[in-house]
Amino acid sequence: MNEPRPPTAEEQLEFLQQLQRLLDEGSFVASYKFALLHAIADLCVLKGDDSGAELELLTSEIAERFIRLYWRQTAPFVAGDEKQILKQNTGRQAAVVRDVADHHNRYHGSLADLERSRSDWNALLRGVEQTIRRMPLWKLQTVGSERLEFLYQNLDAGGVVRLEPGVAYCFRAFYPMVTDIIEGAWSHFVQRHNRKLLGQIIDLRAFLFGAQRSSLAAFHPLLREVQKGRCFYCERDIKSRADVDHFIPWRLYSLDLGHNFVLAHQGCNSSKSDLLAAEEHLERWTLRNHACRDALGDSFDQLDILHDWPATRQVARWAYGQAYQAGRQVWVTKQHLRPLSDDWRRILANASRPAA
Ligand SMILES: [Zn+2]
Repeated sequence: MNEPRPPTAEEQLEFLQQLQRLLDEGSFVASYKFALLHAIADLCVLKGDDSGAELELLTSEIAERFIRLYWRQTAPFVAGDEKQILKQNTGRQAAVVRDVADHHNRYHGSLADLERSRSDWNALLRGVEQTIRRMPLWKLQTVGSERLEFLYQNLDAGGVVRLEPGVAYCFRAFYPMVTDIIEGAWSHFVQRHNRKLLGQIIDLRAFLFGAQRSSLAAFHPLLREVQKGRCFYCERDIKSRADVDHFIPWRLYSLDLGHNFVLAHQGCNSSKSDLLAAEEHLERWTLRNHACRDALGDSFDQLDILHDWPATRQVARWAYGQAYQAGRQVWVTKQHLRPLSDDWRRILANASRPAA
């Protein structure tokens, strides 16, 4: 077998063009194709690397991403006096949406509770996995009568997909742009299938994909205690209002897992905005999460907040790796940005060592 190599510029452009074709020309009765593409992109960040190598994904892993993507979308949408679950299919409601909505209802919207009840979680996972194997997985790359097999080979059976060489590389390199396009197209699809309920509501995308800002309030007391009343970034006391900030910016990767949150002055938070924080902040963040991971995990459980430190670390590794490759600047203080050094590697490598 050949050594993996990153795709050439031309190959990367071709990847983007074909992806665009799938989204524009593929005709689909349910929103599954969007979920599937989003899930694959997510898994490339979580499991892949930047060598250009092929990447094996299990249909069970794709199913888990499906549940996470559809979870917030299966909360009833309220429009005036009407309240219903948005349709994601031309005919009957899509099977995955029905199943996820049923669990959303039974677990009062708490995905953390559902995951803890191993049997219900596993049953839902298996059901969704079956649907993915039957419906979108082997049909995604068909456009009209043409086959556009650039992501993986259509095997038409089995529980494994093998992403072609270069595919994981491209999804990682273009992740914010690709997911932006997918979410935009997905929102249009849902809007089209719910005209009666939605009318001209414009903020559908925030409902489908936005951060659950309201629930962030639950973090305040915990983070205040962990940070001893100080701002995570400038380390000065917080005397007035503070914001809960996504350490890895939401705009880069919508990571709503507990370890990603820090408490900061509103001024520090809004200045950092969608930028990655500099190495000294990264070091403090990794130390906090690594050293206190058990205590934090317990607190997150009590607050009903999902958490997964290894997955969070994987996303951080991806985010800093991409920024480094692209020569991006990172946020140091309100007045100060500077190019990212390769110290991020050491910092995040330390975070993988077992706690002392
Ligand atoms: Zn501050």
